[in-house]
Amino acid sequence: MNADQTSYYEPTIWPEGVIARYLTVGGAHVDITHQMNTLTPPEPYATLATCTACPATSEHNHHRLVWGLTSQYEEHHPDLADRDAREWAQAHAEKCRAMPRPEVTQ
Ligand SMILES: [Zn+2]
Repeated sequence: MNADQTSYYEPTIWPEGVIARYLTVGGAHVDITHQMNTLTPPEPYATLATCTACPATSEHNHHRLVWGLTSQYEEHHPDLADRDAREWAQAHAEKCRAMPRPEVTQ
């Protein structure tokens, strides 16, 4: 028997939809993806940062409620959501020491 120990860590292959990736101090990743709604065509409604080694995630909605003169209304700020997600990912990557879990091979 030849145990297959390969490909548990492939930094060059990013999962589909990953727009940014941060290497954690534990050797895992924080991946940033867009959460898509179910409309046709699907549109991103949030930016999600997910650690691949621990349960930590952080979702940043693209729509923000802001107060106008008389009422609240919604503004669409995907760029701000991306920025916040990247800041969270950077901060988490600097402190997360969870090890990446080897891929389950079938
Ligand atoms: Zn983590």
